[in-house]
Amino acid sequence: MTETLNLKEYLTHPAFRVISTVADQEGLETYVIGGFVRDLLLYRKREKYDIDIVTVGSGIELARKVAQAIHPKLNVTVFKNFGTAMFKDGEVEFEFVGTRKESYRQDSRKPVVEDGTLEDDQNRRDFTINTLAISLNEAKYGEMLDPFNGMDDLESKLIRTPLDPEITFSDDPLRMMRAIRFATQLEFRIEERTFAAIGQQAERIKIVSKERISDELNKIIASPKPSIGFKLMEMCGLLKIILPEIQNLKGRESVNGIYHKDNFYHTLEVLDRICLTTDNLWLRWSALLHDVAKPVTKRFSPALGWTFHGHNFVGEKMVPKLFDRLKLPLNEKMKFVQKMVLLHMRPIVLSEEEVTDSAVRRLLFDAGDDIDDLMTLCEADITSKNEEKVARYLANFQLVREKLKEIEEKDAIRNFQPPVTGELIMETFQLSPCKEVGMIKSAIKEAILEGEIRNNYEEAFQFMLNKGRELGLVAGAEQGS
Ligand code: ATP
Repeated sequence: MTETLNLKEYLTHPAFRVISTVADQEGLETYVIGGFVRDLLLYRKREKYDIDIVTVGSGIELARKVAQAIHPKLNVTVFKNFGTAMFKDGEVEFEFVGTRKESYRQDSRKPVVEDGTLEDDQNRRDFTINTLAISLNEAKYGEMLDPFNGMDDLESKLIRTPLDPEITFSDDPLRMMRAIRFATQLEFRIEERTFAAIGQQAERIKIVSKERISDELNKIIASPKPSIGFKLMEMCGLLKIILPEIQNLKGRESVNGIYHKDNFYHTLEVLDRICLTTDNLWLRWSALLHDVAKPVTKRFSPALGWTFHGHNFVGEKMVPKLFDRLKLPLNEKMKFVQKMVLLHMRPIVLSEEEVTDSAVRRLLFDAGDDIDDLMTLCEADITSKNEEKVARYLANFQLVREKLKEIEEKDAIRNFQPPVTGELIMETFQLSPCKEVGMIKSAIKEAILEGEIRNNYEEAFQFMLNKGRELGLVAGAEQGS
């Protein structure tokens, strides 16, 4: 007989003992199950813990009684429609549900749910590594129940469905994204039959809400090496359905034996590289989308070879459509991604030429507070295999960074506020709003960016007086004299 694994020493949270006592008093068979058990066995540190408790009976009743025993004022949130209830103990969320059995219809990922045994509940879970359950009743406290050999799969780093994968994915196609997300987050392999089934069922992803798909995409992008997930999505046919713009980056065309690089693999390299230096999800999205318009701007001419003129401008315009379709936020986060896509070539152009002060000032003006993120993106964008070239670019970027610092200290362009306001221009020349006011304002900005005057009130005021005179305007103090 094989020895049962006991994990009681890992159940360190004091609430587990309370759950155990209450479950015994109520005569309810109760387990901790799912992601918490998986991550415990992987020694995986999480910022936020969700602990799933299942009981053969009412999850809501058990949650209420446990919360009462922990603290009479502990608040329990009940989701009656789902038959679940949760409470928070510090940073840890405990979610309670009754063990259940599920059956599915063809047109929806919402199952018909009935009460079931622990085995039914384990059967309905997505992957063997997520079916692991630990008993919480005193008699078997800490004992592991592993009917699908999930422990072996954890050890061999394998994502596998507990039941027939075709049925598992057809029932709930979101599981296809979850499989790829876990493979990316944990750097696990997806078992052959399971992966083949994703390929067969890929089209069914269309019945899943965009919000849920984006949630999984964001988790893939937030992983240490997102390229794993994108390559898998491409191979099984999901990518062309959910992100055709990224799929279109794939491939190398040739004319007269001249090839351009494969922008899909280049993009994934940039994405992986940026993940080494930033956790900012939206900067990572910017890396994914920086070349998104290359396929639509691609041209070949014998004189120039392959060009992608204006791909940054076109790319900037593609971002809102893509974000809207995927139900990603259409707020300042999207605007940040647009800005990164628009400006992603500026530092490199700058570093290829002589780095002039005015060019640096203009870059600072356009990038504002996002200048450091932009530099991070550009550095990640250097994926050349030519070491000499890489070293040269990086050295140039270092120069750009130093110049940026020097000029910012001198001219404070980063959060540019016009040193002379439109009101002051109108007051000085006794004007009502008219095009001359705008002309003077933009001439002052240009003069600062070009380094003709410094970014301060005195120099800008004097410049304004001269400019006004050039336009035939008379300052108030000069009028009548
Ligand atoms: P993470 O917290 O990283 O998202 P998780 O596995 O804890 O990972 P949850 O979404 O909290 O994910 O799900 C908890 C458990 O519920 C899973 O471990 C799995 O057993 C089960 N589960 C979640 N979603 C599904 C699904 N779509 N199909 C089947 N089982 C699922």
